[in-house]
Amino acid sequence: MAPERFFLELEPPAGTQADWPHVVIVGGGFAGLRATHRLIGKPVRVTLIDKRNFNLFQPLLYQVATGLVGQADVASPLRQMIGKAPNVQILLGEVEELDVKAREIVFNERRYGYDHLILATGSGSSYFGHEEWRAMAPPMKILEHANEIRRRVLSALEEAEQTPDPQRRRLLQSVAVIGAGPTGCELAGSLIDLMRHAIERDFKQLRAEDCRVLLVDPGDRVLRAMHPQLSAAAGAYLQRSGIELVLGGRVQQISQTEVQLTFKATGEERCLEVATICWTAGVRASHLGKLLAASTGCQTDKGGRVIVEPDFSIPGHPEVRVVGDLCSYSHTADGQPLPGMAGPAVQMGGWVAADIVARVQGQQHRPFVFTDFGSMAVVGPLYAVADLRGLRLSGLVGWLVWGLAHLAFMPEMENRLSLLLKWMWVIATRERDSMLIIGHRNQHIGVEVGLERRETTDPTTTSVASTAAAQSS
Ligand SMILES: Cc1cc2nc3c(=O)[nH]c(=O)nc-3n(C[C@H](O)[C@H](O)[C@H](O)COP(=O)(O)OP(=O)(O)OC[C@H]3O[C@@H](n4cnc5c(N)ncnc54)[C@H](O)[C@@H]3O)c2cc1C
Repeated sequence: MAPERFFLELEPPAGTQADWPHVVIVGGGFAGLRATHRLIGKPVRVTLIDKRNFNLFQPLLYQVATGLVGQADVASPLRQMIGKAPNVQILLGEVEELDVKAREIVFNERRYGYDHLILATGSGSSYFGHEEWRAMAPPMKILEHANEIRRRVLSALEEAEQTPDPQRRRLLQSVAVIGAGPTGCELAGSLIDLMRHAIERDFKQLRAEDCRVLLVDPGDRVLRAMHPQLSAAAGAYLQRSGIELVLGGRVQQISQTEVQLTFKATGEERCLEVATICWTAGVRASHLGKLLAASTGCQTDKGGRVIVEPDFSIPGHPEVRVVGDLCSYSHTADGQPLPGMAGPAVQMGGWVAADIVARVQGQQHRPFVFTDFGSMAVVGPLYAVADLRGLRLSGLVGWLVWGLAHLAFMPEMENRLSLLLKWMWVIATRERDSMLIIGHRNQHIGVEVGLERRETTDPTTTSVASTAAAQSS
């Protein structure tokens, strides 16, 4: 396969651009988007490649899963955000091969050259070697997963409304959320609120007190990455909301309606019977990390993240940078790798872009220093916990900080405004925006964020249009 030339190489809008170095960014998530923004108007030609045509604001996926907002509120088309920039082109496709020696990438069955490569393909969910659990317990990583969770929860309530057997009716009103990190707590807190209020108001045969949301985690407290004081506040709030905390139990088996647990401390075994199971427990880096390691010999950690140099390059290849959830960056004051979160991803993307520009212009760039703004999690309507570099907040004030931080982080103004309005509407009326049951069971369950390479035995899945279609089917 001979390498092809990019549009901006063939027909650069300005004459000088033809000589500018070509920066290829794979992944338009938090890290890739920030890198792209930083390169607009700089003396480089940029190609941003993503397998989806939009940037997804994952921190608010739980609101899509629980009908608080619609999917377009948390996703923005990449072309709308950066399409106008004269030195940036956006291409839709899944990068499937890296030829670092030749400085080429392969996608949509073509090879393209680069001078600088930024890999920012993020991470997907991991079932710790039990991939067979995925169909029973959907993860929450992309829009389709959030839609699937909402569809399952609402479908179960609809079935319960028509079920005369009280025992079965109670089963249909139960959900288990596996993993009590921020995503699990957010989802569980919003689910209990959704189920109780929807039932009180909209369902005639169901009783709110029969709703069960179980939050399962092998640790001894929720939000283990946060200060124990905030964990305790969040745990107490969740319990007051009616959530059953099942702590210390490790999942051994998952079937359609059962989660089997063993408790190491006591040796106890327990089986939870629930109608809907959601998985928020494990994360694994995009498969491009493995591909990069195979072609260059660079190291990955046990989560598949690429271990990078202080400038996010890999050994022997200063032109290849890996950022965001895909990289393991330990050049920190305490030697601990930066967490897989949006804040670090954005800072990494911005720094790498500035570093490339500095190199292109023959200048020195300051070393990367991560600024930790803290962490937060929302666990119910108007209740969040936040740790802002030692300033610990919980309750309404935590929620206000959480809300402002998320709105500020949202890349598009239109989404910011629509979210603000929808949140105000929910607070005033308790009505959720998007209580729709769409799709059919497991329609999107196999779709992941670059975790594994797609099987492309079907020759029709090779065009750009059909690649996009395949990703959402
Ligand atoms: C449910 C959920 C809630 C979260 N909540 C928070 C939170 O509250 N606060 C926080 O800080 N962090 C949160 N995170 C983590 C945060 O979203 C991630 O750390 C962040 O998205 C990482 O950014 P990234 O740019 O590395 O990857 P991503 O944002 O995941 O972007 C990766 C991009 O690469 C594309 N891609 C993947 N593979 C390929 C390929 N082969 N070819 C082309 N394109 C590809 C994808 O389509 C995607 O657009 C949450 C994550 C989830 C899933």
